[in-house]
Amino acid sequence: MTVHVNETHDPSLESWVAGANVAGTDFPIQNLPFGVFKTAGAEAERVGVAIGDQIVDVLASRDAGAFEPAGDEAATAAQACAGPTLNPLMALTPSHWSALRRALQAALVDGSELRDKVVLVPMADAEMCLPVDIGDYTDFYCSIYHATNVGKLFRPDNPLMPNYKHIPIGYHGRASSVVLSGTPVKRPKGQVKPPTEDAPSFVPSRLLDYELEVGFFAGTGNELGESVPLDESDARIFGFCLVNDWSARDVQGWEYQPLGPFLAKSFITSIAPWVVTNEALAPFRIPAFERAEGDPQPLPHLDSEQNRKLGGVDMQLEVHLLTPKMREAGEQPFKLSTGNFKHMYWTAGQMMTHHSSNGCNLRPGDLMASGTVSGPTPESRGCLLEITRRGAEPVDLPNGEQRKFLQDGDELMLSGWCEKEGAKRIGLGLCTGVVVPAE
Ligand code: CA
Repeated sequence: MTVHVNETHDPSLESWVAGANVAGTDFPIQNLPFGVFKTAGAEAERVGVAIGDQIVDVLASRDAGAFEPAGDEAATAAQACAGPTLNPLMALTPSHWSALRRALQAALVDGSELRDKVVLVPMADAEMCLPVDIGDYTDFYCSIYHATNVGKLFRPDNPLMPNYKHIPIGYHGRASSVVLSGTPVKRPKGQVKPPTEDAPSFVPSRLLDYELEVGFFAGTGNELGESVPLDESDARIFGFCLVNDWSARDVQGWEYQPLGPFLAKSFITSIAPWVVTNEALAPFRIPAFERAEGDPQPLPHLDSEQNRKLGGVDMQLEVHLLTPKMREAGEQPFKLSTGNFKHMYWTAGQMMTHHSSNGCNLRPGDLMASGTVSGPTPESRGCLLEITRRGAEPVDLPNGEQRKFLQDGDELMLSGWCEKEGAKRIGLGLCTGVVVPAE
């Protein structure tokens, strides 16, 4: 079962919310991503849907009758938006999510008679909140370009491990330190041992990096002991968001063997405030990554015709850097790299199926991230470790500054969007973070 293109993706649809029809907006009426927001003076966090430069207050709109004729499933889904997180909505089924999407669109479409019943809050007046109570966070390592580039730095003759083309490699991340975009990123302290030193020391990380990633949330989960068949995995994904897996490379280099990343990653992970539903991305589904001739095919449980045809997502990504000097001079952020989610060796569905293949239960709101999204070209490297070859080739910024790794005051901005002929462009918003000094 997969999510198909339907009339909610019709590129000709416009909204009575003017901002939704502005060229280049991330949030036209074809997108309708979910988030959680708060307004000044109001205690409660509320579920909202982005439309142009406005947020639909889902519960208040429901109470006002904006989704009146929409049916039982939409009503159930709207009721699931009554709390301060998206988890209850995520715990429902694709059919519920779809019904609410249709109800929202019916209320927001140009000429809708329900217009007066929709409660909007300007984004400018809202503070976004972490949208999901994330029970578990798993980070994968699914760009073969990233794995090869990083592997080469450590093992020039043998960059890829023998399991790489057989298993979507991942590790268990730390859910408690997943934060909303905009949260300051305090430079972590950690134990490091550079090759030039005889003994380890405990210091603020000198090699702080970012990782451009795409995350996805489990919706309908699976029971302990049950695994998710590949052809059902996409339907169990609620939606996607941008992720920055901040990384302390010096800490990582000393601690990662033999059990993988630990404190080099768990100090903070940023996510964008908006979760773009799997259904909104349907027009941008593409075939899974085409493996090079001679590469092994996935084992049967990680392979299906549907996955080969539609497992990928054509999602464009960009990373911008703004240094304190650039900020003071009023300069524009510098584009560090561009990428595309389509370059991942494994699909989101394969990651989810692999994750549950041993019977591990995924719960609504569990976050999985793709791993650094790097592509085949130098412009599409998704972290500074790759871009600067571990500091050997610093980035030259237009104002004469250089960067090997991130300095205090640097701001990173991840953005992402999907566009193609015959579909409306939709965006994933921004995932930002400013590095602040260690204590
Ligand atoms: Ca990562």
